Amino acid sequence: MDLRRRGFIQLTGAGLAASTLGAIGFGSSGDALAAAVRPFKLTATKETRNTCTYCAVACGILVYSAGDRAKNARSNIIHIEGDPDHPVNRGTLCPKGSALLDVVHAPTRLKQPKYRAPGSSEFKVVSWDFALERIARLMKQDRDANFVARTAAGATVNRWLTTGMLAASASSTETSYLTWKVVRSMGMLVFDNQARV
Ligand code: SF4
Repeated sequence: MDLRRRGFIQLTGAGLAASTLGAIGFGSSGDALAAAVRPFKLTATKETRNTCTYCAVACGILVYSAGDRAKNARSNIIHIEGDPDHPVNRGTLCPKGSALLDVVHAPTRLKQPKYRAPGSSEFKVVSWDFALERIARLMKQDRDANFVARTAAGATVNRWLTTGMLAASASSTETSYLTWKVVRSMGMLVFDNQARV
């Protein structure tokens, strides 16, 4: 065996380390360590970019869902974290944003429109068609009755002051632009985007 000085030192050093670990009872520590390592929980998930629903800061989030999306299979969101590539938050989330997973799975989360008829004390689940049709009809009725095209002095104002709108905080810039255009095109002046509710 042609063993040079550097090789001799490496060989004896490795042997010493192995025999020392074995002598102090860590002979199978490598196997135990490998057996204890769990697979990364997000490995088989689907990543979806979104915006935090809570406030007007509009932090970017990454939503991870499990489920292979096969027919009849339902995806399930298992993890949400800040998006490190988002220019607003660069991966950080405040405590409310950090708790978004609980919001998603909260049994009290509202998922369908509800309607409380005049005189009733109960909210009932209704279809989106019913809700949107009713909102549109009531808006038109109110606008037809209260739209002001001109003031008493003859100035053109084209305003509608008897109905207001509160839009979502977590809208994209494009959605906010369109919302603003639609609302203003009807002459509505009472309009805001909720900042934190
Ligand atoms: S609630 Fe927190 S995480 Fe969500 S958008 Fe606002 S600051 Fe960002």
